[in-house]
Amino acid sequence: MIQTKVCSKCKKSLPKIRFFRRDEAKDGFRNICKVCDGIRERARKLSKLALTSIIPVALSNGAISSEDH
Ligand SMILES: [Zn+2]
Repeated sequence: MIQTKVCSKCKKSLPKIRFFRRDEAKDGFRNICKVCDGIRERARKLSKLALTSIIPVALSNGAISSEDH
């Protein structure tokens, strides 16, 4: 019998192995599934990167401006 849990982000009912463990949580698992967690983490890293390096570098390289036409 597979125990399932509903992801609070994508609202899908998934087996608990699809969730990261979290000791502080009531049932021992996080509220969002690994996929959603990965997306959120990636978005967080990307926005951090964008703020700290990508945008300034792109600006100084002229990559963002549209002078290429
Ligand atoms: Zn999810």
